[in-house]
Formats: sequence, structure tokens, C-alpha cells
Amino acid sequence: MDKPHENPVDAYWMPFTANRQFKKAPRLLARAEGMHYWTPEGRQILDGVAGLWCVNAGHARPKIVQAIQEQAAEMDFAPPFQMGHPKAFELAERLVQLTPAGLDKVFYTNSGSESVETALKMALAYHRVRGEGQRTRLIGRERGYHGVNFGGISVGGMVANRKMFGSLLAGVDHIRHTHDPARNAFSVGQPAHGAELADDLERLCALHDPSTIAAVIVEPVAGSTGVLIPPQGYLQRLREICDKHGILLIFDEVITGFGRTGTPFAAQRFNVTPDLMTVAKGISNGCVPMGAVFAKGSIYDTFMNGPEHLIEFFHGYTYSAHPLACAAALGTLDTYADEGLLTRAAELEGYFADALHALRGLPNVIDVRNIGLVGGIELAPLPGEPAKRAFSVFLDCWEQGLLIRTTGDTIALSPPLIVSKAQIDEIVGTIATALKRAA
Ligand code: PMP
Repeated sequence: MDKPHENPVDAYWMPFTANRQFKKAPRLLARAEGMHYWTPEGRQILDGVAGLWCVNAGHARPKIVQAIQEQAAEMDFAPPFQMGHPKAFELAERLVQLTPAGLDKVFYTNSGSESVETALKMALAYHRVRGEGQRTRLIGRERGYHGVNFGGISVGGMVANRKMFGSLLAGVDHIRHTHDPARNAFSVGQPAHGAELADDLERLCALHDPSTIAAVIVEPVAGSTGVLIPPQGYLQRLREICDKHGILLIFDEVITGFGRTGTPFAAQRFNVTPDLMTVAKGISNGCVPMGAVFAKGSIYDTFMNGPEHLIEFFHGYTYSAHPLACAAALGTLDTYADEGLLTRAAELEGYFADALHALRGLPNVIDVRNIGLVGGIELAPLPGEPAKRAFSVFLDCWEQGLLIRTTGDTIALSPPLIVSKAQIDEIVGTIATALKRAA
């Protein structure tokens, strides 16, 4: 480097950030505990989004901190290929106690994006191993978000995430999204209308021949695209169509996993069990990067029926089952269990819904959506300037001491599951003030 940057925030090329705007007025976080962050100057910020949908037990929880510290001192790293360490096995046993019946095998990754790639590859390889190698097609959904790697943006359906990157994976198609404000605006919980949108999968089966389709991937609740709650009966119908045609159903539970909707996983909340389930974020309370794919035992068994001397699935990461991540996840599961956090969103759902829906009628609020402790508040876009109105609310909330997230013109809320009723009121009150000022 010739000379240091004049601006001390210049060197870091930030992800999913308007770098030029940000660097004129950086927003920095320096410390976190419980429901709060603090800026370097000591200003307290209420966390309305669990960091980034991940710090479900709140920040700096003692059991998790201690587990990470002890693990770092005891064993920093262990190779995951042809080797194991006890916590990786212990964690897998603990995790499958929480999943829907049948999803009893765990493959470790380091992020949601890696979990998605892993699940897609597992689906393709599964069909090949069982002699249906012609099943190569993958189906996603419009407005779906499945991380940022090539498989994930290919099955994903958010245009901005795709359009810079060329032609992506071949053999991918998309069913329609379920956002239908004309029929469902201001629904409390699951919208009544739209189960028939699942039949779009039948359209793609007819178009492509179902025997060429390997898997369908959806988020049970689409988060990053603006909090889209599945219409009543929709996921059941997807499951039925997949079963009819031998297509694997993948739920991407990176956001919904670990208590967000009031049950350990959204699969339980909606009573639909996928064949593969991707998670990350809440698995380790966001403290150390970690992700996982849960697979049905029958899928695992299919791989295990091959020749004994072969590696069954040629896939994995240097940091799969990283000891620090496993320790963090064990501390996280302890914390969730001690405090009943995996069902706390069910207890608070009614209160949260009432608070959110009270925003109806405020300037520019065109929809409110909720389930468990996830909320979406959709605003009418400024003419010709999509996403700008919601972002101005984000900036106002930041000034007031509240961290929210916006995606397009939707404000997304996902507070840590330890949130109090008073803090729910504070979150919603702060947003209400910002909405009035933005008008
Ligand atoms: N899938 C879903 C449903 C997600 O919400 C996200 C992240 N928000 C991802 C995948 C990607 O996770 P990561 O950023 O950890 O790669």
C-alpha cells in the first residue's frame, strides 16, 4: 500500500452496504449485552433484529461466552475430514432432539449460504445414488433468499442479488411468490388466501417433466425479501405435490430456525416436515459462524448403502464442526433450554401482533405482517425511489436508539427472544415516531 487511507473506514469493502454513503457517516457498534448494543461513544441501542436475525438468546450470554472461552483454550481446531471431536457428536445428538421426527442427521457448515449449497448438492447426489440421476432440476421461488453463493442466488428469487452475476446455474426454475396484498394486507398471522399458489409447482412439473426435478427449496417464512408469511395450507400443498412426484422438499430455516416462530423450527409450527432443512444464525446465537443441514434418516441411509470403502458424500468445509462453533452451539442450546426460549415467541406472539398492527393507519403503512416474533411493516415507496422511505425510517430509528432492518420498503423486526413487553412497546413506539416524522 502506498499510503494509509485518509479516512480510517476506507479499506473495508463492506457487504450489502452502500459503502460510499456509509463512509460519510459510519454507524458503529462496539459492545453488546442482553437486548442492547452500545456505540463507541457509549450510546445505547435497542436491538430490534437480534443482530441480523441471529442473536436469539440476546447478547453476551454467560454460558455461551464461557463455552467459547474454554473451548479456545482446550482445543482451537480439529480437522473435520476423517477425524472427529466429541462436541461435534454431542451437539448433533442434542440438535436432533429438537427437529421434527425423521430429520435426525446433521451435516455442519459455517453459514446459511453454505447450508443451502450443501442441501442442494445433497439433493442432487441423493437422486444419483439411488439411480435417478436424471433428476437435476432445482426449483426455487420468486423473492426467495437463500444466501449469496451460486446455487443460492440461482434458486433465489431476489432480482438485485442475481442480476450482476451472469447466467447462474442451469436447470433452475421458480414458482411464484406468495405476496398478495390485494387479498391479504394486514393479516394477523397466516394469511387466509393463497394456498393454491403452491399449485404453481404442478405447472413446472408439467413443463419440465417431474422426473427431472430433484428438489424444491423455500423459506417457510420468507425473511430477507420482506417477511412473507405462508398462506394457510400452502406449505401442506407443496409437501403433497413433492410427495406425488418424488421431489425433495427443502425448507430454508436459516431465519425461522431456533424459536423464531414459537416452535424450535417453523416446520413444527406449520406442521409440515421437509426432507432437508438448512439452518445457521440461531444455531450458535450468532456468536461463532455456524450452519447445518438436517437430513431425513432415509436420505442418509441411501448414501450409506453404497460400497463400504467409499466416502459417501464428497463435500465438506475445513471449518465444518469447528470446535469453537460446536462449543458456542452447545452453550446456546443450554441457554435456550434454561430459559424456555424456543417457545417464547409463541407466548409473546399475541402481544407483538397487537403492538405491530396498531401501526395500521400511520402515514404510508400499507401492510403489517407477523408470525411468532417476526414482523414486517410495509411502506408505500417514495415515487421513483424504491427503498428510500423505509431507509429513512431506519436512519431515524438509529438516531433514536433502535436497530431495525429494512428490505426494500419493508421494515423487518425480529427481536431477541428474551425481549420484554415493555421493549416491544419501545420498538414499536420508536418506529411510530419515525413514521410520523417521515411523512
Ligand atoms: N437463507 C436464508 C433464508 C437467510 O435468511 C439467509 C441470511 N439472511 C441465508 C440463507 C444466508 O445466510 P448467511 O448470510 O449466513 O450465508
